[in-house]
This record gives sequence, C-alpha cells and structure tokens, in this order.
Amino acid sequence: MQSEYQTIIIGGGVAGMTAALYLKRAGENVAIIECDAPGGQITRTSEIENYPGILKINGPELAFQMYEQVTSLEVPFVFQRVISLELENDSVLIHTKKQQLKCQNLILTLGRNPKKLGIENEKELSGKGISWCAVCDGPLYKNKEVAVIGGGRSAIEEAIYLSKMCSKVTLIHRRSEFRADKSLVDELKNVSNISLLTRNQVVKFTEKEGRLHSIVLEDGIDLKVDGCFEFIGQEPSTEICKGLDILDSEGYIEVNSNYQTKYPNIYAGGDCIKKDLYQIITACSDGARIAEQILKK
Ligand code: NAP
Repeated sequence: MQSEYQTIIIGGGVAGMTAALYLKRAGENVAIIECDAPGGQITRTSEIENYPGILKINGPELAFQMYEQVTSLEVPFVFQRVISLELENDSVLIHTKKQQLKCQNLILTLGRNPKKLGIENEKELSGKGISWCAVCDGPLYKNKEVAVIGGGRSAIEEAIYLSKMCSKVTLIHRRSEFRADKSLVDELKNVSNISLLTRNQVVKFTEKEGRLHSIVLEDGIDLKVDGCFEFIGQEPSTEICKGLDILDSEGYIEVNSNYQTKYPNIYAGGDCIKKDLYQIITACSDGARIAEQILKK
C-alpha cells in the first residue's frame, strides 16, 4: 500500500470525510486513516433531522452515504489505529501498529468519545447491560426495560428512540432542567412509556450472573433494568497528540482561525476542537474550510 501522501486525514468522521471530498475533487493526493467504522459520532446517532436537504435519516445510513461518496473518488481508507505522530523536517510521520505513513499536511479530525460515569461496576458491565450507543444496542432490549442517563440532546433523542422498541424507558438526570430546546423536551414528556427521574444521581450499578441487574441512585432507589444507556457528554479523543503540545487543559486541539495548530502543516477540526456548536453541519464546514486552506498554499 502507498505510504506517502500530500495530505493525510486522521479520523474518518464527517469532518474528515468532507475534507477528503474537497481535497480529492481538487486533485490532491489524500488518504484517511480510521480505526473504527467511518462516520464517527453519527454512527452512534439514531435519527438526524437537522441536516439540511434530508428530512430524516439514521446516523449509520448518512455515514455510509458519505463513505460511498468519498470512496467513489478513490480516496484510500486505511483502517488502522494510529499510535504516534512524529515531525520530520516539513513532513509528518504517522506510526500505526502495522506501518509508517508520511504526509506534507496532516488533518486531525479525531472527534470525541462518550464520557463515562466512572462508578462501581461500570467497567465490568460495559457491553453486559451498559451501553453508550442506542442505535447499536437498542434492538437487544426490544420489549424490555431500560434507563437512559443524562439531560442533554443526546440523552433525550436517544430516550425517545429507545421508547419505540423498549417497553419502558426511565430517564435519569441530575438536574430538573434539560440542555435542549423546548420542543424536544416537550416531545420527551409526551411519550407515554418514558418516565423521568430528575434531581437524582446514579451511584453504582449492581450485577447478577455477570449482567447488569439494577441502578442504585443517590436517594437509595434501586431501579431494576435490563439495560442502561449513558449519554453524559463527550470528551475529545486526542491522546495521540499528547507529545505535540497542541492540546488545551481539557484535551481539545488548539487551532487559529484557519484551523492551523502551532505547526503550519498540522490542522484540526470537527469535534476535537473547542467551538460553540457541535453539529454535523459545523463539522462538515470545518472539513471544507481546512481543505480550502491547504489548497490555497
Ligand atoms: P451535553 O449537552 O454535554 O449533555 C450532557 C448531559 O449529561 C448534561 O445534561 C449533564 O448534566 C449530564 N452529565 C454530565 N456529567 C454527568 C455526570 N457525571 N453524572 C450525571 N449526569 C452528567 O452532551 P450531549 O447530549 O452528548 O451533546 C453534546 C453536544 O452535541 C451538544 O452540543 C449537543 O447540542 C450536540 N448534539 C446535537 C444533536 C443534534 O443537533 N441533533 C444531537 C445530540 C447532541 P448537567 O445538565 O447537569 O450538566
């Protein structure tokens, strides 16, 4: 496999795929490195209703359409995990477990990973009742009782999605106000098989025969559930950048208004940079604008 490119994009989410689309259409020699399914966070999103031009689509389907669009242009997807980055004169060396790749320009569209509660039995029961992806694992709980933890858009949207297949969904949120627009909160409150448990915190999970058995809350409630979905926010997945000294105190990549890090040939965009609106459309915009910066060079 070819190992040298003008531009390499690490992260095949929507920001990375958009950058590849723009660069390749302009004739740039570009590749994407991705260690998971293409699409990033949207592969874990059930329904998308705010992407202009598409009335409603599920996340994996939109991800697949973007993947098809990019691969139809013959942009190579290298499905490997990047271990480290190294600067060499005006180039960047990318080390994966299997090979070394080299590029003149590097685009980091690393996205974010779901946060975890960090409480007793969470790690042990991960994949054994506790999940961070309703679209992946929801069908396992058809006609069963589940809980959703969190009070942001993800928790609300995914609780509504799960209510269509599960017999009961209990949404547990630590405050009584939600981080979402009124229409979405009203929709949530009108679903008959969703019950809200607000002003309450989960303190531990209990297990029985190797699977999740119940959720213990701060006030002593012991809620028996078949499954639990955590949607308590995201954290940037930028571990591979630690040696480059380009991260802020929360682990986001610091860039200027041209999406450039302190290294003129390393760019970053999408959910791994700090911004005020984390949406598919803003991630796509970052990807297109980074491509434009590189093409202008
Ligand atoms: P979020 O907006 O950061 O919400 C996280 C929620 O989890 C908050 O309600 C927070 O409670 C709660 N939480 C955080 N840590 C907790 C803990 N340790 N214990 C209990 N609860 C905890 O995260 P998100 O819902 O994943 O959304 C992330 C971003 O993506 C947002 O900007 C959102 O607008 C965007 N998004 C957009 C769409 C869309 O446009 N369709 C869909 C999904 C997400 P507090 O409220 O008390 O802090």
